[in-house]
Amino acid sequence: MTSGSSRFRLLVLLALLGARGLLAPPAPAQDLRRARQTIACLASPALHGRGYVNRGEQRAARFVQKQFRALGLLPLTSAGYYQPFTLPINTFPGRAALAVNQQPLRPGLDFIADAASGSGSVRGPVRLLDTLIFTQPTARTALLATPLAGTVLVLTQAQARRLPSLPAPVQAHLAAAAARITLVPKLTASLAGEQQPQPRLEVLASSWPAPARTVALQLEARLLAAYPTQNVIGYLPGTARPDSFLVVSAHYDHLGRLGCATYFPGANDNASGVAMLLELAAYYAQPAHRPACSVVFMAFGAEEAGLLGSRYFVEHPWIPLSRIRFLVNLDLLGTGDDGLTVVNGRVFEEPFRQLQHLNAQQQYVGSLAARGRAANSDHYYFSERGVPAFFFYTRGGSPAYHDVLDRSETLSLTAFGPVFRLLRDFLNGQGAAPSTK
Ligand SMILES: [Zn+2]
Repeated sequence: MTSGSSRFRLLVLLALLGARGLLAPPAPAQDLRRARQTIACLASPALHGRGYVNRGEQRAARFVQKQFRALGLLPLTSAGYYQPFTLPINTFPGRAALAVNQQPLRPGLDFIADAASGSGSVRGPVRLLDTLIFTQPTARTALLATPLAGTVLVLTQAQARRLPSLPAPVQAHLAAAAARITLVPKLTASLAGEQQPQPRLEVLASSWPAPARTVALQLEARLLAAYPTQNVIGYLPGTARPDSFLVVSAHYDHLGRLGCATYFPGANDNASGVAMLLELAAYYAQPAHRPACSVVFMAFGAEEAGLLGSRYFVEHPWIPLSRIRFLVNLDLLGTGDDGLTVVNGRVFEEPFRQLQHLNAQQQYVGSLAARGRAANSDHYYFSERGVPAFFFYTRGGSPAYHDVLDRSETLSLTAFGPVFRLLRDFLNGQGAAPSTK
């Protein structure tokens, strides 16, 4: 039965739900439902894997900028939220197809392109690399006497790792094959700023037929010499010490597309970190939580291309690096079944003890582990310049990483709420706690 008043209540409820869209007004504290929405949006096909095909990174940057504006973050410069820079990047915008023994394999699931792969359309016999060439000069001489033009050279990951140890003429001879395929136990994509002449694929070893006789592949690769991208930066001015800064950072870019049909969603890496950054921004934007010192939110571009956005900021800082009290970098926060790891936890021991204390007091996460320094995310160039910085990532859950399976549906977000509260308490302890004056 539907009475008039219950229909009215339903309309009000629907209006409220509709208002909680992507630009919903900030909730007073961390909001798991909204975080899920952020991750689903950033990892959706419409953002093309937040890379360099179809301007995916540009769409992601616009999304972040919109959120910053809606939350009331201010730009640090008169130029706005964007800090532009360029990078060289190899991309795969067109065809990406592979058939072995005339049986097609699936892009993303059975094979990916090597980051520095060249373009090519190749049909040829398979030539397996002989492991003896690494140890026996006679095997190397025999290889050099065998023409490889027109063949598809197939090697294992272990062999691929040993290639740089071979004499230069042998390496050059192997590069003369029409294409190169490396068989790998897991597909893990990456990016490169250069391109080899030869088309090169990585194929999941378990998808490779035995015996493989013939290969047909088409791959379109395009090297962009100076692709324009950007960091997105906004801040909340401190109410008591505005010239003293805390930084929360997370990279919004990912690996983009492999051809027309496949993209890398990057839900854990790093839509989850961006979602956490936005939740912290929403928290500190609330009048009751306005921070005593300024809090800067930096969404970096081009992290997957080699930490390029954060390196650019460190080389062209918009605030004096010496005035950053602490930087908290967020990357891979979508799981947490096995706990939380803090890179630089062994470098900045006193802040790590504070973190341990807060965590023990409130029992936020079951396992809080410390690591030494590592050049594995955007904290790196900051801490190399003497800025105290931690990089937080969650452990456990979905093993998807740099592959097409890193989708928002697979993220448990087990530790998302507890990690939010731990980060909030930690930032408050570093100077973000609202001024009591
Ligand atoms: Zn990554």
